[in-house]
Amino acid sequence: KAKEEGRDQFCFYEAHLTEKAREKLFLETELRAAIKQGGLSINFQPQFDLANGRLVGSEVLARWRHPDRGMIEPTKFIAIAEESGLIVPLGEWVLREACIQAELWRRAGLGPHRIAVNVSGLQLERDDFVAAVARILAETGLPSDWLELEVTETYMMRQPEKSVRVLEGLRGLGLALALDDFGTGQSSLSYLKRLPVQTLKIDRSFITDLPFGENEVAITRAIVALGHSLRLQVLAEGVETPAQADFLRGLGCDRGQGYLYSRPVDAATFENILRKTTVYPSGADDTPSAPL
Ligand code: C2E
Ligand code: MG
Ligand code: MG
Ligand code: MG
Repeated sequence: KAKEEGRDQFCFYEAHLTEKAREKLFLETELRAAIKQGGLSINFQPQFDLANGRLVGSEVLARWRHPDRGMIEPTKFIAIAEESGLIVPLGEWVLREACIQAELWRRAGLGPHRIAVNVSGLQLERDDFVAAVARILAETGLPSDWLELEVTETYMMRQPEKSVRVLEGLRGLGLALALDDFGTGQSSLSYLKRLPVQTLKIDRSFITDLPFGENEVAITRAIVALGHSLRLQVLAEGVETPAQADFLRGLGCDRGQGYLYSRPVDAATFENILRKTTVYPSGADDTPSAPL
């Protein structure tokens, strides 16, 4: 009887859901199924050394093609995954898939090249996260120095003490860490000094207005100087024009990623990029590189 009532109440509630809430619930249900049933895929976006144009890594980005609705915007489904907790299984699936693929490339002699996988704060908060990463590395065989994890400031600032410990645990596995979307959060400089990350990724919002936006120029210059004074690498995301690349190179920014070089592409397409850019022992000098 009580169960029956509960169900009625639920139906009553559902009938009064707004269109927007109904849509969210629909996508959440569909996303849960997609994670379980192989409905997701990953893309790779190359990252280049700005000084010599060599490919040094790639960012792994989740993609979801819904059978009826087509491609769903990552910002949209990642937000739904964060709100529902689905980001934990989604993130683990992406990490495993990326490691499997990178290990295939490594065995084929393509590289060396590091894959950068985005990690949500909800994943980092789980007590078993470091162990889960260790297990995926062990199962896939990918050496840990082929992996970089991208974390964001927001989570770091919410739980400063705990997050430093988790990041140190990850570092202990031998992988690299990058602070994503840097400049948009609110990390204090003293805190940044304590974070065991090796790379700052300057948020795309600053890069877009280079080299003409006065404030963006000042901020980007400051981030590169700050990063280097802390002995960190600095990567600019969202590089779209040669003028932006030139400007960033002039500042000594270490790495670049963006539509100028390549959009995120599927594994087969990325493999072609890897084949063209792999430095073979015999022909190191005529290795093709990014259009700088
Ligand atoms: P992000 O980690 O900052 O990733 C960079 C985003 O910028 C990607 O968007 C990429 O396609 C886009 N981008 C790269 N270069 C350019 C450029 O030159 N111009 C422009 N306009 N955009 C550029 P995407 O793939 O739509 O992903 C959006 C966000 O979704 C990511 O931002 C990340 O926060 C999140 N995301 C994607 N995949 C995952 C994942 O597997 N796990 C988690 N936790 N988050 C993910
Ligand atoms: Mg990222
Ligand atoms: Mg980013
Ligand atoms: Mg971003």
